Amino acid sequence: MKAIRFHGRKDLRLDEIPIPELKSDDIKIKPAYVGICGTDLHEYEDGPIVIPSTSHRVTGEQLPLTLGHEFSGVVYEVGSAVTSYKPGDRVVVQPVIYDGTCGACKQAQINCCYNMGFIGTSSAGGLAEFIVVKESFLFRLPDNVSLDVGAMVEPLAVAWHSTDVANVRPSDSVLILGGGPIGIAVLLCLKAKGISNIIVSEVAAGRKKLATQFGATHVLDPTEDDVAARCRQICDNEGVHVVIDAAGVQSGLDTAIEACRVRATIVNIALWGKSPTVAVNTMIYKEITYKGSAIYVQGDFQQVLDALGNGKIANAKDMITKKIEMSEVDEGFRLLVEDKANQVKILIRVAGGD
Ligand SMILES: [Zn+2]
Repeated sequence: MKAIRFHGRKDLRLDEIPIPELKSDDIKIKPAYVGICGTDLHEYEDGPIVIPSTSHRVTGEQLPLTLGHEFSGVVYEVGSAVTSYKPGDRVVVQPVIYDGTCGACKQAQINCCYNMGFIGTSSAGGLAEFIVVKESFLFRLPDNVSLDVGAMVEPLAVAWHSTDVANVRPSDSVLILGGGPIGIAVLLCLKAKGISNIIVSEVAAGRKKLATQFGATHVLDPTEDDVAARCRQICDNEGVHVVIDAAGVQSGLDTAIEACRVRATIVNIALWGKSPTVAVNTMIYKEITYKGSAIYVQGDFQQVLDALGNGKIANAKDMITKKIEMSEVDEGFRLLVEDKANQVKILIRVAGGD
């Protein structure tokens, strides 16, 4: 079968590899659409970072590795012990590999598993004609949700989880730092949860336009606006209740602390290139809570699927700014670097794609 494998920095190849074997409790899927994620891009530009160069401690796999952890697909074949899925079922894959036995997993925090891995970075991913996974990784796609939107469930679950970590209520006002793919996903999840006052801070013109299109109440530009002052002004001269940081830059965090009202919560969802300094005294005087949000826990995938099915997460399809074929993968990665202000999600159409 054909598979897009990561061999090293800026080295993706469309390889011919054996079709994976099916064991009795396995499900063989034809991936339909696979999203290119910031993690993939990071590996492509600067990797290997998390993709193992030697045998991975849990999966045993290593370079070259088939990419793809944001994907939907169609069940092709099921093992003899599988009863809950059948060929033709439309599914999405929750790609987290966790041991289920460590201290984090015992607290149901699979997202913090001490031995965590990922399908698509620690074991072969969805950018292939077939993938074989255990039943427990699968979720059923609602009938009214298309396969391309299915590939957005994973990044939406990351965003959904951050809004849970923030404990955000409908009456809260929220500032999102960064209007990239995750910032936009956070915006859609906040709207699904009934939050009406959502401010997005973003520099790039293309992304500012997108944030407006996706329903941000206010879009501010830190190079033109005093974002903290504007946030206080917009929010009863007090400031925002919640900040979700999807940017991970020093000036953004400084602004966030200034934009917060008393007892506000800042949730960090960004991976930082360099650790920031923090205005801790202001955090004390305002009793600001600072929390991390890591991927998602069991339950987030289903909540996103339900919200897509009942229309509470609207316009997820509009996040797809381009669809490409497997043979065009280099072009997709190039566009995400060079045209990132205008691209939200680029999907790669694979064997099961309609
Ligand atoms: Zn664990």
